Amino acid sequence: IRIFMDIIHLLPDSVANQIAAGEVIQRPASVVKELVENSIDAGATTIKVIIVGAGRTSIQVIDDGKGMSETDARMAFERHATSKISEAGDLFALSTMGFRGEALASIAAVAQVELKTRLKNDELGTLISINGSKVEKQEAVQCAAGTWFNVKNLFFNVPARRKFLKSDDTELRNIMTEMQRIAMAHPDVAFQLYNGDDLTYDLHAGNFKQRIVSLFGKRNKNISHQLVSVEANTTLVKLSGFVGTPHSAGRNTPQYFFVNHRYMNHPFFRRAVLQAYERMISADDVPMFFINLEVDPASIDVNIHPTKTEIKFENEREIWSIINIAIKDALGKFNIAPSIDFSNDSNIEIPVAGWSHPEETPPMPKITFNPDYNPFKQETSGAPRYRHENRNEPASLRNWQQLYDGSKAGQENKERQLPLSYNGNTLLPDNSDIFPSEISAPTGKPDFSHKQESMMHRGRFICLSMQSGLMLIDARRAFLRLYYDDVMRMVQERSGTTQKLMFPEIIELTADDKCLFSEIECELRNVGFEFSEFGQYTYKIDGVPAIMPEGTDIEKIINEVLHGLKEGYNGVKETIDGIIAHSLASNAAMVKANGFMNETERSILIGRLFASSNMSNTPDGSPIITILTDDVIDKLF
Ligand code: ADP
Ligand code: MG
Repeated sequence: IRIFMDIIHLLPDSVANQIAAGEVIQRPASVVKELVENSIDAGATTIKVIIVGAGRTSIQVIDDGKGMSETDARMAFERHATSKISEAGDLFALSTMGFRGEALASIAAVAQVELKTRLKNDELGTLISINGSKVEKQEAVQCAAGTWFNVKNLFFNVPARRKFLKSDDTELRNIMTEMQRIAMAHPDVAFQLYNGDDLTYDLHAGNFKQRIVSLFGKRNKNISHQLVSVEANTTLVKLSGFVGTPHSAGRNTPQYFFVNHRYMNHPFFRRAVLQAYERMISADDVPMFFINLEVDPASIDVNIHPTKTEIKFENEREIWSIINIAIKDALGKFNIAPSIDFSNDSNIEIPVAGWSHPEETPPMPKITFNPDYNPFKQETSGAPRYRHENRNEPASLRNWQQLYDGSKAGQENKERQLPLSYNGNTLLPDNSDIFPSEISAPTGKPDFSHKQESMMHRGRFICLSMQSGLMLIDARRAFLRLYYDDVMRMVQERSGTTQKLMFPEIIELTADDKCLFSEIECELRNVGFEFSEFGQYTYKIDGVPAIMPEGTDIEKIINEVLHGLKEGYNGVKETIDGIIAHSLASNAAMVKANGFMNETERSILIGRLFASSNMSNTPDGSPIITILTDDVIDKLF
């Protein structure tokens, strides 16, 4: 009968826990996240994490937090056991964080767990060891005040899960990503991360800026001089943090949002940041940012899933504006961007497109027309072959402010009567300005029956007079398309040839980028890269793809590829080959299309473009060709 009872009692629980565990604990990094967050909740000032076997063999988390009593230590592993609801008082605010009290029960269901914990004022602590939800040992022990967890043989009893784990490099990188996010959100806590005996992160307690520098200063030695402080204090949100100077923008730049001390992913808010840099950085680059938002917890919805980083905000559009203006403001104050005075109604100074390095540019040109005016945004009825659809009202020629005060946004402001105010301005973004407008792809090939002379504008655009208007071809993008097609062909045929470097280039990576790099070694070699490891986080590049024009920035390409992969992991479906090809191609195009081409070169380029796999768009979807129709031209006069 005893045996019967045990089975009846234990089985449903352990099965339920295993099922629940699947939601909360997907990989070693999830264990690290849950345990480290618990340590922070317990008021720890120092947290040490030791990883063995990429987290498959063992994950130890040691903290100097408040510890647990004997009863609490036992209770902690029960499902829905949490000490946090009564503490917080606000049940609603907490329930929005989702799955409270599930982590330890879940971990214990799929691993062998040892816990040693002691309250500061107790003489003895408690040791508990659990094997797949079953408590095997509980006794008093001598141990340090605080808590020590050791999670061994993760998924030992769920073979399917264990098999599902990725390579050691990937799992380690996930752990590091998770640690980085938590460490950034809690700069006042000291963290150490050991990978075996290797001390990967040694982060001292400090302020936010110091934490950023200690995490990213290794790869970017100038980072502390590139951070511009951003702040905004409104009733909806308290914003603080740093953004990068426009000059520091690049391909693989760190971008972080935190809300109430949790990392979050927020593409919509990200656009608010990017938009603030418009015309200050080149289209291929992105700025770095580290932004903390503090909001009323009741005004966000954490999507009830503990592993999700997407968060829904009640006042999304208003916060979008606050982020956007706060950054414009910060950049303006820092004197690296022209300050934009919204109360002024004319002649706003804005740098011209393409301007990217303020330090190297002579006095900013004053523009007295609207630089945002884009004739292609107009819906024209008579446009014959290439018609650009756009939901936008035509932007006015008069001034910049109209983008905000203009018919659409202005009306919406009034209709919704939003009390948003920042620096005395009422602003709402118009979605159509946030998201790039869709341009319908040309359907056929242009009519070249009567050959026309082309000309070059600003060293970048080829203008071609056509029967029905003026065709503009972005030469850089055209090159990008052609190179991309070439590289993809080489990759598919594995026919990439190498060009040896006379002086090998040394590339230093961060710990997590190093993991990522080793995952794609094979693909890099396929296109023609030759390299060898050269120290713990360093590679020596001995050869590059022969297709790369001389003068291409190798380190930039590697960084772009790594960045592309990280973005890809966020859901953008792209192959590793595609990412590599794109980066090689865009850099080659940059080198190639950096000056004027003569008539022959132009017509060769145009000819090849029209014969390419897609002449109207670059691989990432930007338009290569646009047509200024006669209608539009006529209207301009
Ligand atoms: P939750 O964190 O949602 O409350 P968990 O399953 O992660 O749920 O943890 C259960 C409980 O165990 C916590 O509420 C806390 O009381 C206790 N606990 C867990 N980790 C620690 C720790 N490192 N130090 C002190 N108490 C802890
Ligand atoms: Mg927890």
